Amino acid sequence: MGNTARLDISGTHLPLLTLGPGARLGVWVQGCVLACPGCMSRHTWDPAGGTRVPVADLLGLWRQALERGASGLTVSGGEPCDQPAGLGAFLKGAHDLRSAPSVRPTSDGGAPDLLVYTGYEEDELTTEQRAALGPADAVVTGRFRITEPTDLVWRGSANQRMVPRTELGRLRYGPHLARTRDPRDVGLQVVVDRRTRDGTWPVRWYGIPRPGDLTAMEREGARRGLPLSAPSWRP
Ligand code: SF4
Repeated sequence: MGNTARLDISGTHLPLLTLGPGARLGVWVQGCVLACPGCMSRHTWDPAGGTRVPVADLLGLWRQALERGASGLTVSGGEPCDQPAGLGAFLKGAHDLRSAPSVRPTSDGGAPDLLVYTGYEEDELTTEQRAALGPADAVVTGRFRITEPTDLVWRGSANQRMVPRTELGRLRYGPHLARTRDPRDVGLQVVVDRRTRDGTWPVRWYGIPRPGDLTAMEREGARRGLPLSAPSWRP
């Protein structure tokens, strides 16, 4: 399946510093029907948007990330579990690659880990979705609820649960289950893409903003003469 499977994605980024420990490969899938009020990634909702890519291409990125010493892979979205076939093929291939003897261990001596964000609760997942998540070392579950802000690291709202699923997941994520953000955590990563033909500069924010962060950035941009157009958190 790994050779023919595809995944609709919104984008990728390396190094991702804000969703999981260390410097990671981030992959954002395209398509989400959960429509959480306050979602900052509305551009990932449309299942017909994004780019359809062979899982083999994503595994090529993961191979390069491992060669550069990545500490893990984070799959977010969009809703990864809405593409169980592609997700399952990707995670299985990613697990096989990170298990190779040539892969450098991370600073805690373990292998690079696999982390998946899903808006579903664990008991909402179908058998196929659970199977797809099989190789994941940890999963963050639950809708984003704008009315339940949190300082829990790597979670967007207080209801979301971080669930280690493997021995490596317990090693890597166990110490962080109840940990709140502290100065060692990178808050938001800001990446400016190349200028487009219409003269705008696409800006991407990676990570989990605190309440008010997005509005503050909009205000600051406007104050500096760099107004944001079509921010992905506006309907
Ligand atoms: S927060 Fe996540 S689960 Fe909720 S609508 Fe946005 S992408 Fe979907």
